[in-house]
Amino acid sequence: MTQRLMEAWVETPLEQMNVAVIGTGHVGLITCVSMAAIGHSVRGMDIDEAKIAKLNLGISPFHEPGVEDLLRKSIEQGRLSFTSDPGEALGDADAIFICVGTPARANGEANLIAVEQAARDVARYTKSGTIVIEKSTVPAGTARRVEWVLKHERVDLAAELLVVSNPEFLREGSAMRDALYPDRILVGAESSQAFTRMRRLYGPILERGAELIETDIATAELAKHACNAFLAMKISYINGIARLCELADADVVDVARVMGSDPRIGPHFLSAGLGYGGFCFPKDLIAFERLSVQLGYDFPLLSAVARINDDAIDNTVRKIRDALWNLEDKRVALLGLAFKPDTDDVRFSPALTLASRLLDEGAVVVGYDPQAATDAKAELPDLLIEHDPYDAVRDAHCIVLCTEWAEFQSLDLDRVRELVAYPVVVDGRNAFEPDRVTSAGLHYYPTGRPDMPAHALESVHA
Ligand code: NAD
Repeated sequence: MTQRLMEAWVETPLEQMNVAVIGTGHVGLITCVSMAAIGHSVRGMDIDEAKIAKLNLGISPFHEPGVEDLLRKSIEQGRLSFTSDPGEALGDADAIFICVGTPARANGEANLIAVEQAARDVARYTKSGTIVIEKSTVPAGTARRVEWVLKHERVDLAAELLVVSNPEFLREGSAMRDALYPDRILVGAESSQAFTRMRRLYGPILERGAELIETDIATAELAKHACNAFLAMKISYINGIARLCELADADVVDVARVMGSDPRIGPHFLSAGLGYGGFCFPKDLIAFERLSVQLGYDFPLLSAVARINDDAIDNTVRKIRDALWNLEDKRVALLGLAFKPDTDDVRFSPALTLASRLLDEGAVVVGYDPQAATDAKAELPDLLIEHDPYDAVRDAHCIVLCTEWAEFQSLDLDRVRELVAYPVVVDGRNAFEPDRVTSAGLHYYPTGRPDMPAHALESVHA
């Protein structure tokens, strides 16, 4: 994959622009690297000085396949640099991406203070004619607020600044590929001049086949929330079906196969398990619900989606309790701590929600993750960490697979069986091949499928 990502993008003709990116997190850094890869001259800006120092050394502050290679290459070629000084970043920019975080406030609304601060920086430092691109996920109506800030802070330039919405659809774990080979690029704008500039900015990526969807600004903003809420709904739907399957002795994996083979439904996001997490779905779903209330529309489907997602964790705790009886002092080994494979992001990770529920019930919880252990420990200090999966499962009364990292497929389950105290495996992602688990003498408790007793060693865990 990296080789394909490293292709000489700059060979595709491009009207080079000076691009500035405000916020160099998971979206901002990928934006910096992909814009530099296609030939623009890019400056990333962040208020986090430690992050900026790392980035200037070519070190990515998070794990994302392929990003560090491209980061270093672009720095070496002189097309990418980072600064914490907004004046330096924004002064000569032709295009400015706003990629700051939009976390949830206590009431679920999106907290847009960082977007407002970014807009103030733009107003203070930008030159005439710059295009200001809102890439952060924001409620419909936010671009109008950004325009308002620009207009009032820079009366002299207001008429010449173009604000557009350009929501990001990358997925952590495949973010570099998603940015350079996206399914679609969505641009919301209010003038043909703005659309033309955005087509130039993304020229090489569009030439390689990405679909461009152009809408008005509010539609683009709302479409991003609509997509995330729909994907979360698909996950909650199959998790609701999983609960029904458990009660009816049916198999959710087969139900999902039947559903997914219908092209009107499609096979993606129909994997039952511990539910969705991460920095996007939970907060975006609630922010979307809050927006709908503010706009005067009661959209109860959205809160039901969140409730079913919480229930997926409750159900897994129940399953562990059923298998182990009392949880006090039982050792539970969690395989996978990141919110999904191929990332070290633990923000709103279902694995950590589960860990904290088990800790509350008196269990000793030990976690293993190929990339996310350090961040998981920082988030949940009572969680014990092992740096090898076999050390994590040693003396465990129960193993719970929380994140479906590929490496768990090659675990030596006979060895696992020898190490554990009780032969109990709860599969929170239906990632193990059931026969492989039970043949190793382990009892298997998948999600939404019938429990399967171990083939051998029944007497160990009667
Ligand atoms: P992040 O927390 O990884 O990064 C945000 C960055 O913004 C941080 O480095 C922070 O220091 C910086 N920042 C905050 N205020 C700033 C300011 N005033 N000036 C400069 N920098 C500032 O967040 P993220 O995951 O990159 O998400 C950013 C936005 O993109 C959010 O709205 C998110 O919902 C959206 N989004 C995220 C993903 C994803 O997979 N992470 C995908 C699509 C969209």
